[in-house]
Amino acid sequence: MPDGDNILSGNSDRAKKASPLPTFLLDDSPIKEVHAFWLAGMSCDGCSIATVGAKNPTVEQLVTGSIPGLPKIILHHPVLSVTAGDTFMKAYHDARDGKLDAPYVVIQEGSVADERIAGMFGGYWSGMGSRVAADGSHQPIPTAQWLKDLAPGAAAVIAVGTCATWGGIPAASGNVTNAMSVMDFLGKDYLSALGLPPINVPGCAPVGDNVTETVASVLMFLAGVGPLPEFDELGRPAWMFKSTVHRGCVRAGNYEEGKFASEYGQKECLVELGCWGPVVQCNMVSRGALGHNGGCMNTGGICIGCTMPGFPDAFAPFYKRAPGTMVSSNLSRTTGSFVSYLRQFTQRSRNLAPQWRQVGKVPSGWANVSSSKGSMDAVVGFFYDKVKQIGTEFTPGSSRQKALQRSASTFLSSAQEAQRSDSAKEVS
Ligand code: SF4
Repeated sequence: MPDGDNILSGNSDRAKKASPLPTFLLDDSPIKEVHAFWLAGMSCDGCSIATVGAKNPTVEQLVTGSIPGLPKIILHHPVLSVTAGDTFMKAYHDARDGKLDAPYVVIQEGSVADERIAGMFGGYWSGMGSRVAADGSHQPIPTAQWLKDLAPGAAAVIAVGTCATWGGIPAASGNVTNAMSVMDFLGKDYLSALGLPPINVPGCAPVGDNVTETVASVLMFLAGVGPLPEFDELGRPAWMFKSTVHRGCVRAGNYEEGKFASEYGQKECLVELGCWGPVVQCNMVSRGALGHNGGCMNTGGICIGCTMPGFPDAFAPFYKRAPGTMVSSNLSRTTGSFVSYLRQFTQRSRNLAPQWRQVGKVPSGWANVSSSKGSMDAVVGFFYDKVKQIGTEFTPGSSRQKALQRSASTFLSSAQEAQRSDSAKEVS
């Protein structure tokens, strides 16, 4: 092979000319940097904590631009940024005034309070930076104002956490701030500069990886190196929130077999303790809270519906069995007890090696294991094996299988015999 045609070198001119693949390289994207303006409304900062714990991708990977094809994120975060005061706020002002030299996204944590209410009393609910008032005093700029000013020019507005996506706890019954979600605040007609309605990553707190992965997916689209991610009718990343938490739950097998925990600490399904998993759209259990560890049902907790628009009121009182459970868990109990019996029988019989069955003993030094079947197991086993073998050409121990084995061994012995006599002739 001539030099340069080495497939490992990857620099063959001939290969380049012949290649039908596009020559676009990840580094060719015209967008190298994207600013991310983090706004904190009526929040507890839990979304920030969850996000900085993300593992895939990490915030560090995003802000250092170490993911191929992904623009580097210049993060402006009121808690994480190392600058403060006017220096920190300068980029927010530049973005609002159209003086920024790169595209930007807005990430909102916490719900948006109605600042007119606080304004009536001369105060504010949540703010960042200041402006000079008519009387010369410096007055805080509400984060709701920042959202209103920055949203039209943003490539995307991403609401993280249930307060920002749906209103959450600040918007629950008794809400005195008229707190609302980002999509309620911006209105049905809002579209970002890229033509996107608000993107919603719910959770209280959200899974950190859900936040960073969504941001990375949107940036890939922005940079022209990825497709527009699939969002559902409420702007949730569909691949994360399409399915219910129940479908990915480690205890779902117990539910199916009608086995339910009666108190915390038990390994069975938690639905009778108030778990809402069967109807809640969330990937917490399959993804884990942090680095594939933790997650509500994985660690023994019930689902209280924190990713859902109705949270918290629609799921309160927490820790009380949902009314629908009466029907569904009783149905599971009825069918599950029968299914569970059949599975246990099959499991017992598949736990025996063929020779243990023949000798009727299991050589386990760990415990006494019975290799003999009870009469009920014997009857069920007989029919089970018959049904199992229907339509099967070769069943273990059948006369056909034995005949095949005989002919195979006859063939092998005659082949060996022929080989031996050939070798003997060569020697003589
Ligand atoms: Fe479903 Fe909840 Fe039971 Fe898990 S614990 S199987 S999510 S009902």
